[in-house]
Parts: sequence; C-alpha cells; structure tokens
Amino acid sequence: MTRFEPNLRIPGPTALPPSVREAGGRQMINHRGPEFAAMLARILDGMRPFFGTAGDITMLSCAGTGGLEAAVVNTLSPGDRVLGVSIGSFGDRFARIAAAYGADVTKIEVDWGRAADPATIADALRADPTYRAVLLTHNETSTGVMNPLPALVAAIRDAAPEALILVDSVSGLGAVPFEMDAWGVDLVVTGSQKAWMAAPGLAMVAASPRAWAAMETARMPRFYLDLRAHRDAHARGETPWTPAIAVVYQVDEGLRLMAAETPAGIFARHEACAVATRAGLEALGFELFADAAARSTTVTAAMVPEGMDWKAFNGDIKRRGVILAGGQGKLTGKIFRLGHLGSVTVGEIVDAIATMEAVSIAVGRSVEPGSAVAAAQRAALEAAGTIRPALAGA
Ligand SMILES: *Cc1c(COP(=O)(O)O)cnc(C)c1O
Repeated sequence: MTRFEPNLRIPGPTALPPSVREAGGRQMINHRGPEFAAMLARILDGMRPFFGTAGDITMLSCAGTGGLEAAVVNTLSPGDRVLGVSIGSFGDRFARIAAAYGADVTKIEVDWGRAADPATIADALRADPTYRAVLLTHNETSTGVMNPLPALVAAIRDAAPEALILVDSVSGLGAVPFEMDAWGVDLVVTGSQKAWMAAPGLAMVAASPRAWAAMETARMPRFYLDLRAHRDAHARGETPWTPAIAVVYQVDEGLRLMAAETPAGIFARHEACAVATRAGLEALGFELFADAAARSTTVTAAMVPEGMDWKAFNGDIKRRGVILAGGQGKLTGKIFRLGHLGSVTVGEIVDAIATMEAVSIAVGRSVEPGSAVAAAQRAALEAAGTIRPALAGA
C-alpha cells in the first residue's frame, strides 16, 4: 500500500501544514473590509523581518513570474540597458521578461551549476556605464545553486552606483537570511508557494526608495502589476484588485507558524535539511550537480548516473510516495532535484532518502542498507550541533 500522502519533494509548490490547508478552506470575506485590512497588515508586518527591509512590501495575486514581470515593468523603460546575470533557467526567464518589454538586455551566462562571479559582473558594468539595471537570481531553483548575493550586490554597487539591482528570490526568501536594506538590494520578489508554506497564487515584492523613485519615470506599460497601485491600496488596508483571498488566509497562517518557529529556527531547519539531503544522495552514489561552494539551502540537484534508466528508477520512487523533480531546460533527463524548503522537516528528508535507498537496493545498485539514511541523519545532527564529536568522527 502506498502512503496516504506523498512526500512532495519538489522545489515548489511545497507541502502545506494542516493548519494552512484548513485556513485555505475558510469562508470568503469582504476584501474591502476591516478583517481583510487587519490580515494584510499582519502579513506585511510578519514578512518584514524575513525581507530585512523597513520599506514598503507589496502583495500581488499572481505567480512568482508575475512578480518578476512587475519588477521589470515598474522600474524600467523601453531601450534601457539591462545586465541579466543568468545562472540557470530562472535567470534566463528574468532576462526574457525584460527583453519582451523592450529593454536592451545583455546577458552574462554562467555555466549551469556554478554561481555568478562578482568580479565578472563588476567588469561588465565598468566597461559600459550606461547600464540602468542588473537582474540577479538569488537561488537558482533549476540548478540547485545559491548565489553569494551580498558579495554580488556589493560588487555591483561599487562598479555602478546608480544601477538598479532587481533580485529574484522566489525560492530563497523566507528560508534563508535576506537583508534587503543592509545588502543594498533595490527590489526583490518572492512567491507564496515556496518558503512561505502556502499554495501558489501570491507574489510579494519589496522595493527600495531608489526603486520607488524609478517607478515615477519608468515608461514600460503596466496596469495590473503596477506596484504603486498596490502600495497605495495597502496603505488603506486593501489590494487594488480582488486578491487570491484563500491564499492570503494561508500566508497569514504560514506566517503565524513561522513567527512561532523564529527566523533563526527556520534557517537552521533548512540548513539541516540541506546537509542531510546532500549527504544522503552522495551516500547513494549520486554526484551533486552544483559547485560545492554554492550549493543551495532550499533545493539539491544531483546528476542522473551514466547508464541509469531514470524514468524507471523515478517511477519506482514515485510509486513509493516520494515525488522528486526532474531537470529543466537543457538539464532535462540529466539531473533530478530534491526540494527542501517551506514546511520541510529532517524526518521527511530522511524518509525520502530511505525510499531512494530501498529502490536503489531493489534495482541492484551497490548500496549498504541503512548507509544513506545514516549519512543523512548524521549530517542533520551535526548541523544541529546535537551529536557528540566522538560520534561525529566515528
Ligand atoms: C518558482 C520560481 C519562479 C517562478 O515562480 P512561478 O510561481 O512558477 O511563476 C521564479 N524564480 C525562481 C527562482 C523560482 O524558484
């Protein structure tokens, strides 16, 4: 018999805690009434520590991609020079959005699996002082790479003090530390279905004073995604258009759980899940895809071994109730990905590794029963500091 609920290990949408699911089923309310206003205020306040900003945060009813589109159309004009730093398919998407609206985009394409290099970006900006904006991906979900965002932002600020820094942190924000104001990020986008433990449907976008000022002169067309309309409506406790109320309920409940856990607790849990995943997959004989120096805390990508029938292998894993993600774009069939963000626990990671271990043994791969589970468990305990050094070295 398969389990009642699969262990959904894709990097978004992420599994919902029971109370979040129940929140989504609540009766509708007037989105122009006081209950909604109170909920919206709670959400925007609750998100502030995760964004690390004292500025305005806006909540849009759309996918994360809508948030990226909002980043572009609100701050830029057709013909603006834009440097798109792409380390994977989401970086490509961000650049394509800017090009679709008439920006003059130059791309820095980093080999997939690696992080962007601060010096390379700085050189490009110094070589052409006309750049109006730089597009960055914080966590590249397609490759399992987390960019060193503070270093990248510092290098950009140094090389091009006036350039706007627009960041896709759809799969990072909420799961890992983010200090928008302290780092000098001008605009950042995140999405309800990744770290926020809610269903898809909301994008949250925060902008710096410089980005808000840019919106007054930017000439790309915008209406539904106009961030000024959202900011002004939020000041009245509303959204400009009817919001995805069921998802708003869920984000409200998700944030209640997140506040109880504390940001530090959430970040440590994600770190423990990430190291457990890496250790478990490596013990199963999988080579991790991302550069060791830049591995993501929210999603791990591993190579499909030469000669493995991935479809059959993954089919067996899926039948046992563990849902993994495949590769995207040019990585289709070459890698698989295991998501560890949102409501994830170390127990769920160990469970996923146990299932992959059982299937590995069943198909005749040389794996010692229990070895990958032990490796994952050990890594998580070490990360949590709850294992004695003597045992850690055993
Ligand atoms: C998921 C994701 C997106 C897109 O979000 P959608 O809601 O699917 O539009 C963009 N960027 C990154 C890094 C993501 O992980």
